[in-house]
Amino acid sequence: MTFAGFGLAKPITDALARAGFETPTPIQAQAIGPQLEGRDILGLAQTGTGKTAAFALPILHHILGMKGRPTPGTARALILAPTRELAVQIQDEFRRFAGGARISTCLVLGGTSRGGQIRMLSRGVDVLIATPGRLTDLVDDRKVRLDEVRFVVLDEADRMLDMGFVKPVKRIVSMLHPRRQSALFSATMPSEISGLVETFLTDPVRVEV
Ligand code: AMP
Repeated sequence: MTFAGFGLAKPITDALARAGFETPTPIQAQAIGPQLEGRDILGLAQTGTGKTAAFALPILHHILGMKGRPTPGTARALILAPTRELAVQIQDEFRRFAGGARISTCLVLGGTSRGGQIRMLSRGVDVLIATPGRLTDLVDDRKVRLDEVRFVVLDEADRMLDMGFVKPVKRIVSMLHPRRQSALFSATMPSEISGLVETFLTDPVRVEV
């Protein structure tokens, strides 16, 4: 199997070629097609399996197909991650595969200055990558609205819950556009995650590596 069979937009296939990605990893082979068709994903996968590209490539493809620019003060896609390090890696992958396309990304992380984040959000962003605590602060301060988020990913959901982010994650999820596409990735499936899966995902395709 190659990436060509997915029919991804040209800026993405060009960026994949530049990055030297030839063969999809097993999680990518299972998860990319269903997301391109609009399905929700429940992914059981660890870091190192290629799960970031497994969600980033279909989201970029969908955003490239959207008209116009994001509304000021909103985001089109939201990726929630438990730690700053993971959030930074996710942004790097999005930037790498956006290639030459005009797709904006914004990182919202605790422990860093709010000013630059607020300025970017005020213009509107395509892909917002955030840790839950700081994002909740900015939502409460009305620096960003989440009701136009059409694509959402909870990455390393089990770690997010371990770190005490249950409440902010549930609040954030409750604010998103009702007709959104969602994915949840987790290395383990404890009972709190099963509970979240019920409310967060609609008829998900389950993928496991
Ligand atoms: P991840 O599990 O998303 O953190 O990815 C682990 C590493 O594998 C990252 O450095 C990716 O850039 C790389 N990677 C992901 N998918 C592929 C692929 N299909 N071919 C080659 N490298 C990949």
